[in-house]
Amino acid sequence: MKIERGRVVTLHYTLRDESGVTIESSRGRDPLAYLHGYGQLIPGLEKVLDGSVAGHASTVTVPPREAYGERNPDAVIRADKDSFPEGMEIAKGVEVHADTPDGPLSFVVVGFEGEQVVLDANHPMAGMTLTFDVEVLDVRAATPDEISHGHVHGAHGHHP
Ligand code: ZN
Repeated sequence: MKIERGRVVTLHYTLRDESGVTIESSRGRDPLAYLHGYGQLIPGLEKVLDGSVAGHASTVTVPPREAYGERNPDAVIRADKDSFPEGMEIAKGVEVHADTPDGPLSFVVVGFEGEQVVLDANHPMAGMTLTFDVEVLDVRAATPDEISHGHVHGAHGHHP
């Protein structure tokens, strides 16, 4: 069965950055199952997998515009330390959610400048060229429930 929109694809992947360092991998744990054509994988990867079948293995390098986008310098903002809720731990790497005029946004604390906290709303992999080793293990038709929910249901029923 070919990979196309509405198929459930199970695959193993290893993701590496430009210098070849592994960022994450499904090897050694459960493979990834996703619903193809519903924006669950980055566009550059879905494009390469489209039309392939179980057994397909390849290495694909995806530029930022087909991965997590370019870094947006305007997405780095500063906020006063005392504008955070009392008792909240503000440390480098902590994720902060905020309501903004553009809707809810997630920021990561990237540093401190005096009494100000520097926050970055860019995706951690924004601006990165990513290389994936992918191996397609299985392709099946999605159930009507999976199609209407827009995600894969596991062997044990519904995953929220
Ligand atoms: Zn569901």
